[in-house]
Formats: sequence, structure tokens, C-alpha cells
Amino acid sequence: MPATKKKQPFAAVLPHSNELGFFEMRFDSVGGLGANLAGQLLAQAAILGQGLNGAHFSSYGSEKKGSPVKSFVRLCGPDREVRTNSPVERPHLLAVFHSCLLKIPGTCAGLYPDSVLVLNAPDSLDAARERARLPSGTLCVVNALNIAVEEKTRLNTAMLGAIVKASRFIDPEPVRRAIAASFEDRYPHMVKPNLKTFDRGYLEAESREFPFDGRFQPVPFSRYEPELGYANAPIGGIIPNPGNTAAKDLSASRQGIFPLYHRDRCIDCGLCSMTCPDYVFVWDRRVDDNGKATQVLRGPNLQYCKGCLKCVEICPVEALTEECERPEFVFTGDVQLWGPPDALNTMGREGDPAKWEPQEGNYWTRVG
Ligand code: SF4
Ligand code: SF4
Repeated sequence: MPATKKKQPFAAVLPHSNELGFFEMRFDSVGGLGANLAGQLLAQAAILGQGLNGAHFSSYGSEKKGSPVKSFVRLCGPDREVRTNSPVERPHLLAVFHSCLLKIPGTCAGLYPDSVLVLNAPDSLDAARERARLPSGTLCVVNALNIAVEEKTRLNTAMLGAIVKASRFIDPEPVRRAIAASFEDRYPHMVKPNLKTFDRGYLEAESREFPFDGRFQPVPFSRYEPELGYANAPIGGIIPNPGNTAAKDLSASRQGIFPLYHRDRCIDCGLCSMTCPDYVFVWDRRVDDNGKATQVLRGPNLQYCKGCLKCVEICPVEALTEECERPEFVFTGDVQLWGPPDALNTMGREGDPAKWEPQEGNYWTRVG
């Protein structure tokens, strides 16, 4: 039965609150996934539909699709006023819109022992707990990307369904009304698919409570200190090293697809390198059979790849193919970070297949 058809007694009572009386939520996302709109709709529904007080705002990185975005929602009883607009550092509910964000240190820092973590991932609950290194609390997992692809919508409404379910106090009906109102003026044909996406997110989200068992230790919140500031930045503001984001990792910009490299098909024409906007491709210098120095493509360093797939379009011999990121793909410390083992094996040197040795988790290292 669709979650929202059953009338439930949603009282305007917060399950937890901090010393200022707020229930605080943070949505960690990347630009383009719709976390800002999700936070806005959720706050609007809780305030106008359930009589709570609250506030919503977002913070962005550089103005670029794929850059980190945080969306904050603060709710309190109707008898309180919201007089703070600082970022949420200790969320009662943390929603992670892209599982790659878990690789960024501190994403799950500051959670309370009984906080709720809502994760967009195709993983099982146990695998998701490992990936998030969650010490305790409630974990809710939903494959929001898959739902959005099937419904031809965006994953933010699927995440909203999972967030509403995991919160246990937000009424789904006002959220559905807020979703419908936000689409009906400009995109009326998107109302129905988005409501279905929301309902599927609600119904398909699975959650479980994990008591503290010592497997992972809580990480206290600490403020990020940038390495470069006004006192030590290079004169002229030039940053000479490539890949200079804090995490040196653009993989969170990808939305589930990446270019898979097949060394055995590549003719080293260089068209991919000329096309790639992020200088992702890595080349080796070799000496060919005639004794001439030549350049040979090692492959894309997917750490810097944002998944635009321009290289796949340009490659004349299908040495780069579009591939979905799947949890069973091996994660390597070499050039191509993700991929099925048989494709990685084509990336050997001097005609030999590469050999890989598993390390901790699903991280693999080239040994030959
Ligand atoms: S465009 Fe294709 S064939 Fe050419 S270097 Fe790149 S991967 Fe190899
Ligand atoms: S998909 Fe291809 S062109 Fe786009 S960023 Fe990644 S490697 Fe570069």
C-alpha cells in the first residue's frame, strides 16, 4: 500500500532536540542532485503542514555542478523562535545523497549515538554500515539513484521519501503537497512521477538500529582548517598543483556512470585526452619497436573524473565505454579506480595482463 494513503497520527512532537530545543538535519550532497530543494520542501512541509517552527538554508562550494553542497533544516516546537543560522554540526538526522561522500573524512563526524543516517546506496544495511563506519544509531538505506532512473526523475524526491520515513515524526502528506506545489506551475507533467518517486523512496527504504558494539568509534566534529589561507597562499593566488581540491577527489561528482578503459582496444590516438575537460588521462613514455619514443595511454585516473562521458563519445575504437558504478567493482590504487576485474586485467604493461591483489575492503593493488 502506498505509504501516504494510510492516515497516521503525526503529532508535532520532536523525537529528540539539542540544548536549544532544535531537531537538526543535514543533507550532504553534490551540486545537481537536488539536496537544496529537498531541504526546502521538507522544512516547508513541517512548518506549514505540522505547525512546527523551523528554518532551512544551504551552503555551496564553487558554483559548479558536482561541487559539495550541504543543506540544513532546523525544526523546533511552535513555542520557540529560530534565532540561529549556523551550519548544523551535530545532526540528529544526516542524509548522504551520494555514497562517494563517505570517502571524505568527517562526513559522519558529530553524530549523536542515536542519530539517524539516511544513505543513498545500492548496498545492504550491513555493507552500508561498513562503508559509513557507523558506530551506532539508526541506518536507513535506499537505492534512490535506481528509483530516479526508473521513474525518469531526480533522486532528491526518493531521498525525501526515505528521510520522512526514517525521521518517524514528519507527516508524508504535507511533503507530498509541497512536492506537487513545487512542480505544478512550471513542470506539471513531472508532478505524478515525482510523487511516485517519493512514495517508492518511502516504501523501499530499509532501516535498522545498530547498538554500539565497539566495531567503529564515534568521530567528534571538528572544523575543517584549509591548508592555504591569506597568510600562506602563493603570491598572485596561483595554485600550481593539479587536482587541488581538499580531498583531491572528484568522483563524488559522478552520478553513477563512468568511462571504463579497455587497454586492449586502445590505439593511443589521444582524442580522449584532448576532449576531457579535467585532464583525467595518464600517459606513459615508451620506446616502440623501431626505437622511437612514443606515448602510450595508461588510462583515466577516475579520481578526477566527473563522468561527463565526452571521452566515450570521441573514442573511435570503443576503448572507452559507458559503465555503471557497482559495489562489486574492484577499487584500485592504480590509474583506473573502478571496474570489473576482467577490464582491469587488460591494463597490463608490455602486453602482459595486470595482476591485482585484494587489500582491506574492496581496495585492490596492482602487483604485476
Ligand atoms: S580516444 Fe580511445 S583509442 Fe584514442 S587514446 Fe583515447 S582511449 Fe585510446
Ligand atoms: S567522463 Fe571522460 S571526458 Fe568526462 S571527466 Fe571523465 S575522463 Fe574526462
